[in-house]
Amino acid sequence: VMAAPFTTSPQEEALERALRPKLLEEYVGQTKAREQLDIFIGAAKKRGEALDHVLLFGPPGLGKTTLSHIIAAELGVNLRQTSGPVLEKPKDLAAILTNLERNDVLFIDEIHRLSPVVEEILYPALEDYQIDIMIGEGPAARSIKLDLQPFTLVGATTRAGMLTNPLRDRFGITARLEFYSAEELTRIVTRSARLLGAPIEASGALEIARRSRGTPRIANRLLRRVRDYAEVKGSGHITQAMADAALKMLDVDPVGFDLMDRKFLDALVQRFDGGPVGLDNIAAAIGEEPGTIEDVIEPYLIQQGYLQRTPRGRVATLLAYQHLGVNPSQAMAA
Ligand code: ADP
Repeated sequence: VMAAPFTTSPQEEALERALRPKLLEEYVGQTKAREQLDIFIGAAKKRGEALDHVLLFGPPGLGKTTLSHIIAAELGVNLRQTSGPVLEKPKDLAAILTNLERNDVLFIDEIHRLSPVVEEILYPALEDYQIDIMIGEGPAARSIKLDLQPFTLVGATTRAGMLTNPLRDRFGITARLEFYSAEELTRIVTRSARLLGAPIEASGALEIARRSRGTPRIANRLLRRVRDYAEVKGSGHITQAMADAALKMLDVDPVGFDLMDRKFLDALVQRFDGGPVGLDNIAAAIGEEPGTIEDVIEPYLIQQGYLQRTPRGRVATLLAYQHLGVNPSQAMAA
């Protein structure tokens, strides 16, 4: 069974790192974000200043971490990487901030999960490159200001709406990452296959690309599984037929939905008569976290036109009924 798109083993992570493009020109797709960053990075370098703070948002696996590494590489500075949930106390963040060198990039993944006390010390750091830290304890405690080196915060989040307003306002550059087209994913799969030394036909790459939920992380993962399959069942050559057979075995359906997608659509259509149904109700019905449904499952179904989010709840579209082979009028009457 295919692992969920948001869980990664250490081996998978190592492979992912190896497949990561290093420069902006190798970064496929996301034209808008790429063009913006290209200009702002060029300008910052010319002036020898830190790049403005950057907020990247979009579903998991679309290339936020990759882009943050590319930003640092293009600027020619160090990257320090951490994440919202890891920074438990203000001093955890203070330790990182005070160690940054001039114009470095600090990447904070899942920035919407920063605790309020940690977020508080981030504000003056972002605005004036200063932090207030407490010295001593009890009645003798006092706060002192420390100057930091100029730096760039790159924050990543799955949903920009989950950031507090004051935090969101402190980012000068905001880029929303979009799902990738089949053509873009074909380029990514072809490049990855070359790096892995896996022989692949153009039609084989397209088959994997079409069924990767618009997501490079999934495309690369499916490529590795298809390669295994092709090595065991054939000569290792990845043809379209080989890719199709492997993806069938992995429960990836013809339009690229996995078991979770189908479970979600099935509950929506069969148990809730196509909706409208509230997020918590459908989450309980399929035994999935509401956050996972919102961040991982729904964005692609919405983008592909299988699902609508309305003020009254989630609603299945005609496409969803057709995909499940259910007749909408019969479903309504039942
Ligand atoms: P996120 O941080 O948004 O969850 P990552 O940056 O970790 O996503 O990307 C997951 C994988 O997908 C990376 O290892 C990288 O190989 C690949 N990838 C992501 N975006 C691109 C891209 N634009 N071009 C090529 N490969 C990409």
